[in-house]
Amino acid sequence: MSRLDRRSFVLGGAAAALLTAGGGVGAQVTPQLPHDPFQLGVASGDPTTDGFVLWTRLAPAPLNPDGLGGMPATNVDVEWQVATDGNFANVVASGIVTAVPSSAHSVHVEVSGLDHSRFYYYRFRTVSTPAHISPRGRTRTAPGPGVMPAKMTIAVASCAHFEEAWFHAFRQIANDSPDLVLFLGDYTYEFSTDKDTNVREYVDWGTDVVDTLAEYRLRYAQHRTDPALRAAHAAAPWAVVFDDHEVKNGYHAGTPSAAQKAQALQAWYENMPVRAAQRPNGSAITLYRRLEWGALGRFHMLDTRTTRSPMATDMPSCATIGSPNHRMISGTQEQWLLDGLATHPATWDLIGQQVFFANRDPDRDPTTCDGGSESWDGYRQQRDRIAAGWVTRGVPNPVMLTGDVHRHWAVDLLQNPYNSNSAHIGVELVTTSVSSGGPRASTEPDILQPHPVMPYIKYRRDRRGYVRCTLTAADLTAEFMTVSSTTEPDFSRVTVTPDRRFVVPAGQRRLMPG
Ligand code: FE
Ligand code: CA
Repeated sequence: MSRLDRRSFVLGGAAAALLTAGGGVGAQVTPQLPHDPFQLGVASGDPTTDGFVLWTRLAPAPLNPDGLGGMPATNVDVEWQVATDGNFANVVASGIVTAVPSSAHSVHVEVSGLDHSRFYYYRFRTVSTPAHISPRGRTRTAPGPGVMPAKMTIAVASCAHFEEAWFHAFRQIANDSPDLVLFLGDYTYEFSTDKDTNVREYVDWGTDVVDTLAEYRLRYAQHRTDPALRAAHAAAPWAVVFDDHEVKNGYHAGTPSAAQKAQALQAWYENMPVRAAQRPNGSAITLYRRLEWGALGRFHMLDTRTTRSPMATDMPSCATIGSPNHRMISGTQEQWLLDGLATHPATWDLIGQQVFFANRDPDRDPTTCDGGSESWDGYRQQRDRIAAGWVTRGVPNPVMLTGDVHRHWAVDLLQNPYNSNSAHIGVELVTTSVSSGGPRASTEPDILQPHPVMPYIKYRRDRRGYVRCTLTAADLTAEFMTVSSTTEPDFSRVTVTPDRRFVVPAGQRRLMPG
């Protein structure tokens, strides 16, 4: 520990003493932690105008098979600090929290009372013998209400199968250090693949598929052994939602069991920089929420999984799809979304969600009602209610941000999704996978010119990467970032560059070549 560290953490110690004097924290034997417990790194998330949530989890032996990270079965107090400078000379907030074994020694701190539109640094220290200091994270607060920042940069990412490619996209996100990272699901996968092109393997506990709390916890711990992923978390606040693979492939209202969902969601919460409002209660969770970015952006983060209508088959019947009660999101969430779209204090309304929204099948006839269970095509009544809802509410610039399909897509959204001559009502930017699928996810050809049958589909590319967006009051620029090699382990020998760039001028609700 440097002298600076010692001096600045005296402040944290004083805060700890005050909290202890106020009752409730402390009063235990100082635990012995011989090895570094911060190997899973640090993270922050869900910024507001005056704060954010800070996260870490103590795990000196991340891959221990019991999922407990090598921690003793005792409480450990953890000090935290927020500073305006990276040397922690000017600490502006600090405190102490207790990491407990029942939450796998995870730490979530909701910081408030900070300045808006400002970058901060944060770190943790264990109250242990010896004491350990975490790596440093960088995060920020949002602009105040009505404040128009010059610009906002975001990274949109999803689908990070650990085995199938190196996490170069995460390294580039860390290098970008955007204002916000949106992660739209499939952070981990419950299954192992056996592809010739795999670059590494999930640890194997003798089961093919993860379905216990210990195994779910281990998945997150193994992902966080990747330095590029830790760097991406330490570089910027994230807004995270899950999709199916954090739980089980095809997860919806009917499957898997409530007990398995509860274990998966507990592990997800323990390992994500999310607020207590997103803490699961058994298999129930409030995942959907909004983030505000002054006069520039409003983010609506959806839960398309936990209340999705039960699905008997992959291709449900016409009667099922035609029913207004056949829902991707609950009626309560649909109303919450439409209410949030009724006022639009910001230029851009960005809907961060998991699965494909636009119609993407040229052979799909709306009168036959077919549509799979894994995209909004299979829930078209609700999709069309939502799209019509933002049109009638006069939303100036709706942008759907989507993951799941392991390919980049750039799509204009149409008032009638089955008529290419219909009015343009928004855009959908679909991020490819960080790593899932490896060198190629499918055998379908790329779409590099507007699709001949569906010209509102401007682009599709099967590479690994993420979408980098820059928002201003005048336009949104979307860069479809692609990784040059999924199998080369050395980041200095790969490139992560824009394969295609589109611009959405404010008020136009359509993609233009960038
Ligand atoms: Fe995926
Ligand atoms: Ca998925």
